[in-house]
Amino acid sequence: MKIAITGCGIAGTAAGFLLSQQGHAVTIFEQAEKCRPVGAGILIQPIGQTVLKHLGIYDQIEHQSARLDYIEAIKHTGGRLVFLEYQRLRRQLFGLGVHRGLLFSSLLDLSIKAGAEIRENARISGFTHTTDGVVLAMDEDEQSEAFDCIVATDGARSILRNAAGIRHRSIDYEYGALWKTGSCTAVSDRLLQMVEGTKKLVGLLPIGKNQCSFFWGLTADQFADYQRQGIEVWKEDVRQLCPRAEEILAQIDSFAELTFTTYRDVSMKSCWTDRIVFLGDAAHPTSPHLGQGANLALEDVWEFTECLKNTAEFATACRQYEALRRQKILYYQQVTRWLTPFFQSDGWLKGWGRDLFLPLMCQTPVLREQMLKTLCGFKAGWTSSRIESP
Ligand SMILES: Cc1cc2nc3c(=O)[nH]c(=O)nc-3n(C[C@H](O)[C@H](O)[C@H](O)COP(=O)(O)OP(=O)(O)OC[C@H]3O[C@@H](n4cnc5c(N)ncnc54)[C@H](O)[C@@H]3O)c2cc1C
Repeated sequence: MKIAITGCGIAGTAAGFLLSQQGHAVTIFEQAEKCRPVGAGILIQPIGQTVLKHLGIYDQIEHQSARLDYIEAIKHTGGRLVFLEYQRLRRQLFGLGVHRGLLFSSLLDLSIKAGAEIRENARISGFTHTTDGVVLAMDEDEQSEAFDCIVATDGARSILRNAAGIRHRSIDYEYGALWKTGSCTAVSDRLLQMVEGTKKLVGLLPIGKNQCSFFWGLTADQFADYQRQGIEVWKEDVRQLCPRAEEILAQIDSFAELTFTTYRDVSMKSCWTDRIVFLGDAAHPTSPHLGQGANLALEDVWEFTECLKNTAEFATACRQYEALRRQKILYYQQVTRWLTPFFQSDGWLKGWGRDLFLPLMCQTPVLREQMLKTLCGFKAGWTSSRIESP
């Protein structure tokens, strides 16, 4: 088939590789002027690691990333809120702190080598059906040639959901985060988060080579306040909550060196229609509090391309794919939606309840096992998938 992929991110590049490898003629359309390795740290869970093994890039990624044995969250008073050890589920399990740029470059390399064509500076604004297939509309009234189908991987803010006419519901979270990557030797074997109520959250995610991805949760209004008060006021607040961030703070001189991102949660009635299928964040963006975004995106691509391998019919593959994925996507969306306000919201009651129950949940073997399975990506029908357990 002649396949158009919209968005050259994690899902787009992975799809570009696997679909080209299956013999399809693939073109990836990317809005950015240049496809560059940008971003900060992402957490690749055991399920995501398995997909990377299938893609053949696991070893090169693992070699340059950080092996994380624990997920830890500590209250500002010093008590532990969350402590999850991957090995408690299975001895060989761990998380991988990876620079998004590294994962992206490795996947882009694969897709180019497999023959995918990349068209940069091509912002897709919609698509139309013609007698020859589907034609993409780009900004400046440009149109693409006709394709047999579209794989939409244009991320959390996909505009193709509307163009496809699929019913969906979208929530924009008030809270987002300031990000920065820099050298940091204070944490190496865990994702560390420090919290004060539900309004202050700071995290350090090691990503290998003595680098950490630092994040500070806040609303756009709070960010504007800090910008008015100056960088030193903000640094002092971070220092108070997380002294271990000092090394990274020393590398920041202005807010211009930080990236502010906000989060969106979208649920779609269906992830496909007629000649278009949505994968990754384009289909189901969530807040990053459960650390699953890139993992679900990689798994989506693997599952969809496996479905397409086994049938010549796009619609049949989409139907099979949706049946296979629906339960798991719903589970992870719901858990993330439920969890998010307990970490980032304005109510004190949620923080109080969280501080009371979460440590108990981590200490109760049955609940801890469920939490670990969720974290690793092993919940809600993963055994029915053709991705083997690591
Ligand atoms: C620049 C960037 C930096 C990121 N940094 C981090 C990070 O530091 N930490 C983290 O956890 N997650 C980060 N993410 C998000 C993370 O990559 C995704 O949540 C996850 O990997 C799922 O990947 P995805 O391919 O579905 O979406 P994405 O990785 O978001 O990729 C979507 C791609 O589609 C392109 N696109 C969007 N709209 C259009 C359009 N209309 N036409 C053409 N192209 C379009 C985007 O430019 C992007 O390249 C980042 C995403 C991006 C785009």
